[in-house]
Amino acid sequence: MKIIDGKAISASVRKELTAKAAEFENKYGRKVGLAVVKVGANPASEVYVRNKIRACEEVGVKSFSYNFPEDAEESALLELIDELNGSENVDGILVQLPLPSGLNEKKILARIAPEKDADGFHVINAGGIMLGLPCTKPCTPAGIIELIKSTGETISGKNAVVIGRSNIVGKPCAMLLLAENATVTVCHSKTADLASHTLNADILVAAVGIKQFVKGEMIKPGAIVIDVGMNRSEGKLYGDVDFESASERAAYITPVPGGVGPMTVTMLLKNTVESAFRCKEN
Ligand code: NAP
Repeated sequence: MKIIDGKAISASVRKELTAKAAEFENKYGRKVGLAVVKVGANPASEVYVRNKIRACEEVGVKSFSYNFPEDAEESALLELIDELNGSENVDGILVQLPLPSGLNEKKILARIAPEKDADGFHVINAGGIMLGLPCTKPCTPAGIIELIKSTGETISGKNAVVIGRSNIVGKPCAMLLLAENATVTVCHSKTADLASHTLNADILVAAVGIKQFVKGEMIKPGAIVIDVGMNRSEGKLYGDVDFESASERAAYITPVPGGVGPMTVTMLLKNTVESAFRCKEN
């Protein structure tokens, strides 16, 4: 069994992005810019936002932070997004989710100009993935594809099973695997006899949100296993896959932490740098 080292793969992509960001600055006289919008003080969001800002610094992308209180008015957020959409210095905009319950998440995300949608959540980008058009891909699924490709195994013709059908992970991941010519099955909480599907998976993506949900006996020997889960329990982070038993069957597996997580942040930077060039060159 080989570990897919998300940290190492991420570091090599970030090296390329550092060069690209420097090229942009030389050519256009300013840094690539990412606006990071946070509302309230959700502790997990605080950590994610801090990591994203640190990652920006690492590759030479300028971050602009905007922090709103928990009881922020929706109109104030929409006003800021309008301003950022028109800003010459901002190439990517991300609104950290989840938003406090009083705010209309769909409306706020839809307000971001699709070409500055660093997270790839805008309906135009979601539609682009569906139709196979050039678009900004959501970070976690895009990172998953990179991790699978890093094994050197071909995706084309393989049976891929995705457990989870969320709009930010499961569904777009299934679409990206389909675009790579995998034969894709999407499983969810109503799937009957889940193991009969997973045992057929050459590529298994677990995006369930339940600690150690996928056991070794559910995995086809020799499979590539991508564990998207980030489940905190007693101060520790656990994946959706039971790493120990899964390691005995899988040929390749991502660890948690150090697998999908670092790639997600790296793909956010990649989206931002690509948006910056696209905006100038089109
Ligand atoms: P989500 O929106 O809660 O979706 C979970 C999916 O799992 C749903 O489609 C649900 O099915 C399915 N599911 C739940 N119980 C199941 C069961 N018993 N059998 C089969 N399927 C089941 O979660 P998400 O946002 O996609 O995130 C999934 C996990 O990935 C979480 O742990 C999250 O923290 C993690 N995550 C990690 C990153 C990263 O960067 N590493 C990024 C995003 C998310 P239904 O649709 O039928 O309810």
